[in-house]
Amino acid sequence: MDVKKLSYFSDFAACPIAALGVLFVTLHASAPIHLPVFVAASLAGLIAWTLVEYLMHRFVYHRAPIIRDMHEVHHHQPLSYEGTPPLLSAILIGLFIYAPLLPFGSNVAGGAAVGMLIGYVTYMGVHHALHHLSPLPGSFLYALWKGHARHHYARKEGNYGVTSDIWDRVFRTTLDQHVPGSEA
Ligand SMILES: [Zn+2]
Ligand SMILES: [Zn+2]
Repeated sequence: MDVKKLSYFSDFAACPIAALGVLFVTLHASAPIHLPVFVAASLAGLIAWTLVEYLMHRFVYHRAPIIRDMHEVHHHQPLSYEGTPPLLSAILIGLFIYAPLLPFGSNVAGGAAVGMLIGYVTYMGVHHALHHLSPLPGSFLYALWKGHARHHYARKEGNYGVTSDIWDRVFRTTLDQHVPGSEA
């Protein structure tokens, strides 16, 4: 297995490990775990992830120097294994989600971080499936595949959301959903 492929797949493992780490820290924090707060914060983190996914894709992957060039490789070679360095996302979630929310308690900070990590690993899994599997026509994954195929191949920029199209609708960046060769 080459280094690029190893780095790509190790992020799939790094996120669940980081989520378990956060759970462990939350369980051993000075405040006792409060399941309703933890679960509510996880759900909020998961929903917030969909916005982070949209904004990262639109403004970092498509605009930021160096990262933009790496992402362009993925646009032209969608089957190649272009990923972020392993653990980088988990570290960023720790710095920008867990740490700032810690004053609100370990349940809020831990729950939100776990929700974000679940969102990120879901995004990676869905994105991988869209390029490496053949979703069944009519399935939910097929609808996502059509949207993402437009993102890759349309001349206009748009359809930045991978796991949902909600933020493309909100920010009016949805592309025409017709993909040449798709019948549904
Ligand atoms: Zn893109
Ligand atoms: Zn893609």
